[in-house]
Amino acid sequence: VKITVLKEQDEGGERRVALIPQVVERLSSLGVSFAMENGAGVASSYPDETYKDVTLSTDRKALLGDADIVLAVQPPTIETVQAMKPGAVLVSFIYGRNHPDLVKALRDQKVTCFAMELVPRISRAQAMDALSSQATLAGYYAVLLGSVHMTKILPMMTTAVGSLRAAQVLVMGLGVAGLQALATAKRLGAVTEGYDVRPETREEAQSLGAKFVDTGVDGTGKGGYARELTDEEKQTVRKVISDHIARADLIVTTAAVPGKKAPRLIDAEQIKAMKPGSVIIDLGAEGGGNCEGTQAGQTVQVGPTTIVGPINVPSMLALQASELYSKNIMHLLQQILTKDGQIQLDFTDEVISGTALTHDGYITNEGIRTAVD
Ligand code: NAD
Repeated sequence: VKITVLKEQDEGGERRVALIPQVVERLSSLGVSFAMENGAGVASSYPDETYKDVTLSTDRKALLGDADIVLAVQPPTIETVQAMKPGAVLVSFIYGRNHPDLVKALRDQKVTCFAMELVPRISRAQAMDALSSQATLAGYYAVLLGSVHMTKILPMMTTAVGSLRAAQVLVMGLGVAGLQALATAKRLGAVTEGYDVRPETREEAQSLGAKFVDTGVDGTGKGGYARELTDEEKQTVRKVISDHIARADLIVTTAAVPGKKAPRLIDAEQIKAMKPGSVIIDLGAEGGGNCEGTQAGQTVQVGPTTIVGPINVPSMLALQASELYSKNIMHLLQQILTKDGQIQLDFTDEVISGTALTHDGYITNEGIRTAVD
């Protein structure tokens, strides 16, 4: 079996790579061979010479035509898919609902596509959970990004002319990214508060030394995710959270509801009441923003507050984001490769069937099939 990794072509300047040298080494015992487009790892600090036992080529088309398994980070172009062998496997982020033509191309090319965002959030699949591995890094980076936009420091500091007070950090949305943001802000010495609509996040926030802002609203939805709040619930939350927003020096928002636009957590009126010099890092920017006024990919000043809407944050930490992503893929590949390096797909396995998007000319994921067809 030949496993191939391409240089990312994303216009957004994706820096990650789907395969790192360490994973090549780990998988080589299975007797698979590796090929790579020249320079695929350069932007994530893995130069070509660090890939031992990998065939390098600049001929993208030939690489694709020869590959049994193709690894990528960003959804590939339709051209890329059409250059693949029918029956070959693609492992990548796809976000099929946003790319219906790509999903159809994968189907028509008879590619078996495993979409990394579809990996089930179950214990057994944790090592393959790329959404979590990338969100962890994003949550960490959000706090650092916030700190460089702030006009004050995070920790308390004693100086000859008096003490500086620790900054107040509020994290809204305590999933994987939010919890890491809380942990990071705490480590940097800030006073931290966390808020989420799922009550089980209370303990998680408290275990990270944060105060949990209790709004009394339980927005638990299906499968451990949040649901959309009703207008009445939103009002209840607003009454409690507004004071905390007004007190914060830095707010990190990470809220998401599966399949929906990012929920609005902060409105223009609440921003008006914020402190001069305050900063919001809106990790929901790509999904429409958690904050009124957020512009994806930009930093804007709205009244007293700087609102930063970063996109593709994991790519900014490309070295380790690639390391984690590549290891997530490795664990998935170990499920589909036999000991002698053959591809064996067991669709009765919850992880395999859950992660598969297309196979043998069908869109196997029901939700996306309905959305795309
Ligand atoms: P996510 O990116 O879907 O959402 C981020 C957070 O936003 C969630 O905590 C959600 O509750 C919150 N949110 C949604 N609407 C909100 C609102 N109006 N106000 C405030 N907060 C709001 O979440 P995620 O990081 O992908 O994690 C989602 C869940 O999956 C969590 O329960 C997490 O523990 C669980 N999970 C389980 C596994 C596993 O068992 N393998 C792995 C990863 C995550």
